[in-house]
Amino acid sequence: MEKIKTTVIGAGIVGLSIAEKLSQNFDELLVVEKEESFGRHASSRNSEVIHSGLYYPKGSLRAKLCVRGNKLLYNFLKKHDIPHRNCGKLIVATTEEEKSILNELYKNGMRNNVEDIRIISEEEAKGLEPEIHSHGALHVPSTGIMDSHSVMKKLEFLTEKNGTMISYATEVSDIKKVKDGYILSFKNDDFKIKTEILINSAGLWSDDIAEMAGIDIAANNYELHYCKGDYYKTTRYRNFQHLVYPVPTNISLGIHIRINLNGEVSFGPNAYYVDELDYKIDETYKQDFYESINTYLTIGKEDLHLDDCGIRPKLQAKDEPVKDFVIKNEKNLGLPNFINLVGIDSPGLTACPAIAEYVEELIE
Ligand SMILES: Cc1cc2nc3c(=O)[nH]c(=O)nc-3n(C[C@H](O)[C@H](O)[C@H](O)COP(=O)(O)OP(=O)(O)OC[C@H]3O[C@@H](n4cnc5c(N)ncnc54)[C@H](O)[C@@H]3O)c2cc1C
Repeated sequence: MEKIKTTVIGAGIVGLSIAEKLSQNFDELLVVEKEESFGRHASSRNSEVIHSGLYYPKGSLRAKLCVRGNKLLYNFLKKHDIPHRNCGKLIVATTEEEKSILNELYKNGMRNNVEDIRIISEEEAKGLEPEIHSHGALHVPSTGIMDSHSVMKKLEFLTEKNGTMISYATEVSDIKKVKDGYILSFKNDDFKIKTEILINSAGLWSDDIAEMAGIDIAANNYELHYCKGDYYKTTRYRNFQHLVYPVPTNISLGIHIRINLNGEVSFGPNAYYVDELDYKIDETYKQDFYESINTYLTIGKEDLHLDDCGIRPKLQAKDEPVKDFVIKNEKNLGLPNFINLVGIDSPGLTACPAIAEYVEELIE
């Protein structure tokens, strides 16, 4: 049986960030990914927004890792010349009543040390984005957009350059805890690997991996709920200068304007719970999109066309309070150096370099 000191399960943006970070100091490191290439799930089906960190409760992992991740990510993008734009965003009050929500978000952002945020008037918001109607907005300059595929490609390149192997089409199917580590088995393959440090970065399947390692996921509240979000695109508008968001809901940041680096415009994601992992989409929610977008931008249904979707791995079940990321060394559950990442929903894309630092600190 082959022995590898450290194994990372999952080559989404989080697993790749962890692997890239550890590969700088760790000799024997392996990444296993069930798909044929990196980032086939949440990491390629999202808004590609570099978040500021203003939404999350002070002291939560989400807040800390997003604020730090924002800075680390911009540094990484600049250092490696990866396409991105620090465009900033506007969170708009679509009624007078929503202005109090902007104030709460502003105060929360200040508590989390998000830089340069400012409440602006309806006139100033109009000056920044003439097509948008609002009753005032929160201006968040540190928000941006990036080419996340290029980020993952660079992380893959750097990880492999440091001598780490990334094994694609390699699906972990069983984990056995032994005295000094873990034995991994793989689907459709007879070989096994023994590893001392095991990192679960399996995104939508991270609860399954935790269960394979022997964790009672119900007792530990690690059960994931799939929360799908669709996007609609339009050619009616182009080249907004800022991302534009409504105020957030309990389960999502709201149907916002997504802009890409080519200036193309789409809207989403909405949020609805599903039982299956299935990326097929239809027009069930078109009316909701139409109504929601028209609270801040005038658009006809004929200008909205189905685009794509993503599925969030949420720890939060329907109508429950928002839960924080789980990122733990599960030594208290009798699994030393099983580093468990469960429920890495938004802002996982932004937080990924900070998550990687945090994971390195958890390894003993
Ligand atoms: C609709 C949507 C919009 C979002 N927008 C944003 C945004 O704008 N900004 C932001 O910061 N975040 C955003 N997010 C969140 C962000 O996309 C995720 O937090 C991030 O991509 C999670 O990365 P990951 O590597 O943990 O998961 P994934 O990308 O899902 O990667 C997990 C990997 O593990 C592999 N795997 C699973 N099981 C096994 C196994 N048994 N063996 C081997 N490999 C396995 C999978 O194949 C997969 O490649 C959004 C998410 C969604 C769904």
